[in-house]
Amino acid sequence: MKTEIITIGDELLIGQTADTNGQWMARQLTALGLEVQRITTVSDQTAAIVSVMEQALDRSAMIFVTGGLGPTRDDVTGQAITRFFNVRWKEDEQVYRRMQQYLAERGYRMSDINAQQAQIPEGSRIYINQVGTAPGIELDKGGVRFFFMPGVPAEMRQMMRQAILPAVQGIGLEDFYEQQILVTQGIPEAHLAERLKSLEQQLPARMQLAYLPSGGLVKLRLSGRSGDAGELRQTLDAHFSRLKDVAGRYVVYTGDQPPEEMLGQMLAANHQWVSTAESCTGGEIAGRITSVPGSSRYFAGSLVAYSNSIKQRILGVSSDLLSDHGAVSQPVVEAMASKALELFQTDYAIAVSGIAGPSGGTPQKKVGTTWIAVAGRDHTTSRLYHFGSQRDLNVHKAANTALVMLIRMIGNEI
Ligand code: AMP
Ligand code: MG
Repeated sequence: MKTEIITIGDELLIGQTADTNGQWMARQLTALGLEVQRITTVSDQTAAIVSVMEQALDRSAMIFVTGGLGPTRDDVTGQAITRFFNVRWKEDEQVYRRMQQYLAERGYRMSDINAQQAQIPEGSRIYINQVGTAPGIELDKGGVRFFFMPGVPAEMRQMMRQAILPAVQGIGLEDFYEQQILVTQGIPEAHLAERLKSLEQQLPARMQLAYLPSGGLVKLRLSGRSGDAGELRQTLDAHFSRLKDVAGRYVVYTGDQPPEEMLGQMLAANHQWVSTAESCTGGEIAGRITSVPGSSRYFAGSLVAYSNSIKQRILGVSSDLLSDHGAVSQPVVEAMASKALELFQTDYAIAVSGIAGPSGGTPQKKVGTTWIAVAGRDHTTSRLYHFGSQRDLNVHKAANTALVMLIRMIGNEI
């Protein structure tokens, strides 16, 4: 079934806020087998909103709208609803009481402006907002369902999860959608595409291969649609397994989880521990590892050894090593990793030292030059990378690459 998303707000069009609502909703709806054929972002202007709704009405069966439902003058989605559906608004007692209670729990009284939010269009279905004040509203026009939700991401997500997604699940499923993800590293997108050329040409028409490069990794998404769920799964599995074979040694793992989550699963399963000693990443790798719930089962700690003096005094890197090879060098990262292993008493340690930029580069060691070492109890691997000239990207790539190096090391040991 064809659906579409409309996100409303001037802040989205002037580049102040990224449209994360559109992205999140598209992911959820796709997972339910619905086809999102369009995401439109529109300004806070009644006529503009009405015009997009008119177009959506002609081409989609369900339309999901966020933003502009607030009680202040800059939010005009309510006016657009009045005009488009030709409805009157009236106060809803349940919404009023719920809002009063929500505000009272937080020590606020109900203002006149809040009270306006208890007005809902006649003939609409209401979705109670558990984490804010504005309720969600469903209205129907000519059999097409419109869902209006607040723009605040947490409120929209809660409403979608709790009530709207369950309400639309299983509707109009003439097509099933499936996808599988392969994460690769160590090969640029264009080279990977060359390698996968003939496989791609042999894919059935209803199956697609997408390349999603980000932060030094390239994700491959193989997806397809079919009316026959069993057949779809089988064909997808067969092509995915070929894809893995052809991508060969560049494959890191399968699935859509970020590397820190994959690493966490492996460490937790093996009851093993990791630590980090970070220079140019400034704790980013530790931050990524601990962003995963349950990381206390496998993450011991990190030392941000930014200055040479800390590298010497705490990590025991000798001044000779530093002066002979420089802080960004193989012997230094290897020494950092093996000392972290010992200090934190872990099974593995990650160490990174690089020139994040924009300054600090030399003709021999340009900005982006980064050494990464991963140490296990009985061996250490280290590699030199040349990431690029952008500081934030260099740090991000270094973190991704370091996590991937450890994933590979653990994978090879199993
Ligand atoms: P609104 O419901 O239009 O009053 O939006 C409230 C707040 O939610 C805005 O100030 C934005 O910070 C945020 N917001 C609105 N729409 C989006 C969107 N599409 N993606 C991410 N954040 C949004
Ligand atoms: Mg707004």
